[in-house]
Amino acid sequence: MNQHTSLPPIPFIDVGAQRRRLGRAVDDAVARVMAHCQFILGPEVKAFETELAKFCGARHAVSCASGTDALMLALMAKGIGPGDAVFCPSFTFSATAEVAALVGATPVFVDVDADTFNIDAKGLAAALDTAKRAGLAPKAVIPVDLFGLPADHDAVAAVARSAGLFVLDDAAQAFGASHKGRPLGTFGHATATSFFPAKPLGCYGDGGAVFTDDDTLAETLLSLRVHGQGSDKYDNVRIGLASRLDTIQAAVLIEKLKIFPDEIAARDRAARRYAEGLGDVAIVPKVPAGLTSVWAQYTLRIAGGRRDKIAASLKAEGIPTAIYYPIPLHRQQAYKHYPVGAGGTAVSDQLAAEVLSLPIHAYLDAATQDRIIDAVRRALKR
Ligand SMILES: *Cc1c(COP(=O)(O)O)cnc(C)c1O
Repeated sequence: MNQHTSLPPIPFIDVGAQRRRLGRAVDDAVARVMAHCQFILGPEVKAFETELAKFCGARHAVSCASGTDALMLALMAKGIGPGDAVFCPSFTFSATAEVAALVGATPVFVDVDADTFNIDAKGLAAALDTAKRAGLAPKAVIPVDLFGLPADHDAVAAVARSAGLFVLDDAAQAFGASHKGRPLGTFGHATATSFFPAKPLGCYGDGGAVFTDDDTLAETLLSLRVHGQGSDKYDNVRIGLASRLDTIQAAVLIEKLKIFPDEIAARDRAARRYAEGLGDVAIVPKVPAGLTSVWAQYTLRIAGGRRDKIAASLKAEGIPTAIYYPIPLHRQQAYKHYPVGAGGTAVSDQLAAEVLSLPIHAYLDAATQDRIIDAVRRALKR
């Protein structure tokens, strides 16, 4: 026991603080939906899609029921299926590879870069050969903008172009970030994002969206999210899903999008404070020149097998941490039979043993953050 244990516990993400800031605006928006009762594809859905597309500069934003569905709808729209290889980073949330398997394709795992935690373009090039040798047709790559930081989209695009791959950016954690001055949502052939409550732009339930500049793809997505509809829901021209964003969630998101730029700036301030407070004692995240992050996570690397002990001592002081991700996908029971690219997975394996994410959100005040920084410094010295 020490003097720090008497302080109140700190939340990992403070959804309540944002709720208080939004106040009546969200209540009123939800009340309007409750009054007009168009719960499925009501007017707020189209209005939100228009704002969303404008926010990132994409030609189309097609909303849907979740980030996972957003990824899956894009693969379905491209007809990706059995015999096709879909390249994914091995260090990501399961949904990235899950959608490839769900459409009947084969996820092929590619290692990530040790500094950015994002897909390694050289590993992608090596994995193309692995897939071909396994008799698969290389069809798509899903770079992930992990923890809010854009992937190396130029390098991924170069490999994808030479191999004719469909590029589906998984920006579930990174909507609002930018790569060389261009917002995410405009990279690759399509981008998927998620509005799960813990994501930087979250709603009060599940939700997602696909962005694209391709008119034909957008039209196919609109059909797929309503059972593959043609002229109407009872004219079925393809196999689809029931995957709409609820009108109530769209109404909530319209209000949240208004304060999102402000929140992105607050997240970035918090990340800078961590870097200043911890940069001399820990391996803190680096943002490559020309990129911005929305800091879905603030993730340290703690080498030497000390990570779990440090997490435990922070927990004892009321400071929550999280491990994203403890098991890389190529070692998960559900995914370990899928191929790994020739480049191997050494970095993913190492990261899984070393990463530790600290609380970060737009409402983390300086005093709370300094308490976290002090505790991390003490734990690292112990
Ligand atoms: C959250 C997440 C998803 C899935 O989003 P849901 O809305 O939860 O379905 C996909 N990919 C990544 C990288 C994620 O973090």
